[in-house]
Amino acid sequence: MTTPSRQARLRGGLLGLLVGDALGVPYEFHDAASIPPSAEIEMTPPVGFNRAHAGVPPGTWSDDGAQALALLDALVRDPTLDLGTFAANLLNWFQQGAFTPDGNVFDIGLQTRQAFYAIAAGASPSTSGPSGERDNGNGSLMRCLPVVMVAASRDEAIHLARKQSLPTHGHIRSQLCCALYCLTAMGILEGQSAADAVRAAEDELLERHAGTTEDTELKIALDGRFDAPQGSGYVVDSFWSAIHCVLSTHSYEDCVKRAVALGNDTDTTACIAGGLAGLIYGENGIPIRWLSVLHGKAMAETLLAQL
Ligand SMILES: [Mg+2]
Repeated sequence: MTTPSRQARLRGGLLGLLVGDALGVPYEFHDAASIPPSAEIEMTPPVGFNRAHAGVPPGTWSDDGAQALALLDALVRDPTLDLGTFAANLLNWFQQGAFTPDGNVFDIGLQTRQAFYAIAAGASPSTSGPSGERDNGNGSLMRCLPVVMVAASRDEAIHLARKQSLPTHGHIRSQLCCALYCLTAMGILEGQSAADAVRAAEDELLERHAGTTEDTELKIALDGRFDAPQGSGYVVDSFWSAIHCVLSTHSYEDCVKRAVALGNDTDTTACIAGGLAGLIYGENGIPIRWLSVLHGKAMAETLLAQL
């Protein structure tokens, strides 16, 4: 395999996120035991499979993809990320169907919905995200990849990763998982292997947070690596499930199929893993049969062209 260019990696990252999300949509809410065998995991599930989100056309991204595009749009307008713009984009998605291929809004997380009601009622987007210990769903992790498309340094990637989490996911653990993910993605973009990139991200955050009040939360996030991947909606499991998929496979296709095979929050695990796999293998690593049925691809292209 030739090494993808930076441009091919960035395009692969965003398209890989969207394709992974779309691939996982029909399989959501099924446990691992009821997911079809790998050869049959496609945008259209095998006949007889009780697909989730009936009525949604094959190849359609869900909340994950829409929120990632909402973030990319805000970052294109202002690379330092104006949270007011980002929150307005998110509400525009939630209320009007912006950033979706056909105006259909589905699959919104409970915590995210709660944050939107707070924002609509006038809360500041820097504090609207619920921040209790139980408020650690994967909703801000799944959308954060666009940070690495504009971040000029690792410091900036950490800052933006955490900042973009705030409107919906205010807890430190969620913020740190987003930082871990974006640092990992930065490493891959810089040419590191995925394994080295994850390790470097962990070491960098450990060093940064040594002796601070956030140290305990960071250790909780990092200890997730010792648990079996569940593909659940919990941000720590979600991050490490995606890393498991990336590190245990050698192609984009196998990576996102592995994510779906974990069951549960299939679209989000495949989105998070697919973003990294897209960076690793580049746009050409994503199967054409999936890219060609990605509903709304032109919308992503319009945003990519503005980078
Ligand atoms: Mg989703």
